[in-house]
Amino acid sequence: MIKVEDIFENLRENSKNGVIEIKNAKENGAKVVGTYCVFTPWEVIAAAGGIPATLCSTNESTIPDAEKVLPRNLCPLIKSSYGFAITDKCPYFSFSDLVIGETTCDGKKKMYEYLGRIKPMHIMQLPQTIEREEDFEMWRREVVCLKERLEKEFGVTITDEKLREQIKIRNEERNALKDFASLSKLTPPAIYGEELQLVFNHAKTGFDKERVIKELKEMTQTVKEAYENGERRVSGDRPRILITGCPMGGAVEKVIKIIEEEGGVVVCYENCSGIKEKQELIDEGKDPIDAIAEKYLKVPCSCTSPNKNRMDLLETLIDEYKADGVIDVILQACHTYNVESFSVKEVVKGNKKIPYMNIETDYSQNDLGQLKTRISAFIEMM
Ligand code: SF4
Ligand code: SF4
Repeated sequence: MIKVEDIFENLRENSKNGVIEIKNAKENGAKVVGTYCVFTPWEVIAAAGGIPATLCSTNESTIPDAEKVLPRNLCPLIKSSYGFAITDKCPYFSFSDLVIGETTCDGKKKMYEYLGRIKPMHIMQLPQTIEREEDFEMWRREVVCLKERLEKEFGVTITDEKLREQIKIRNEERNALKDFASLSKLTPPAIYGEELQLVFNHAKTGFDKERVIKELKEMTQTVKEAYENGERRVSGDRPRILITGCPMGGAVEKVIKIIEEEGGVVVCYENCSGIKEKQELIDEGKDPIDAIAEKYLKVPCSCTSPNKNRMDLLETLIDEYKADGVIDVILQACHTYNVESFSVKEVVKGNKKIPYMNIETDYSQNDLGQLKTRISAFIEMM
């Protein structure tokens, strides 16, 4: 039987498999649709026969190129995304026949105008608020517009049956990911946070969803069995940290590394690279377009106002994962998450009575020393 360490070692070694998989599919005539945000309804793309692919913004290497067009004091995620696209360093962007963006934060939606000069873009207009009936109607219309655009671009008809099929697959993937993430609910957790992040990344770049679901179930089973047989890989002394805030991919993973080197363990990612989009399933009993619109409108992102769903989700996750402390990771110049951090602090320290720390960082490695000092002091205090 495969050892638990080997599962993660394989994932690290095969992290580039997604590129090969998509290259082969493209050579066989598949259409690729690039996406940036978890508001994008992947089910609609897949029902059109397209392959939805998350586009890269993983490191700072492309930021100097991006800064020839974009201002320096802009969120590094936006600059890195744009830089990867214009320098042709993101293979998923190169393979994309169409790119989908949403009107989330100001920097991102304005950057999409420039991306539209080099790739066909489809922009979904996201309402600023999500609570009124008219917000739902607006967003539902946007889902229909996306469906019509994909039908036109790819010369296909997206039937309700195809949508239902994709809803079922993606719900199953969400459940499989949540089951894997639940291994961190155990005391002590069965896995490290770095490993949890690795599995989320693996699912993101695995395009054959039935295979990904099968792999996720097998991984969960293997780790669970080893745990039940007494294997304890994570010490019970490590303070359990929940990470919230901006997306955690690529260069920002430095924060996870430091937390675990300094004696903590990350048990949950509330961010959109983690559980945020997975928590709510799509209602399989409803009209598929209504159900898709309803689910994605509820993504608790700081770009919508108010964003009470995020505070509710945080309280639920702190309890479920038995977090001892929360680290709020803010990317420099991300105003929405930065402003919202005051409310997050109120929820964490006020309602849940556990320690809270806010970290502002970027894609460089220049602040490693400072991060280490602050995170180490935070963990020691718990
Ligand atoms: S934080 Fe909001 S805008 Fe950014 S990727 Fe997530 S859902 Fe999209
Ligand atoms: S991290 Fe903030 S500023 Fe950057 S893209 Fe996401 S919402 Fe926009």
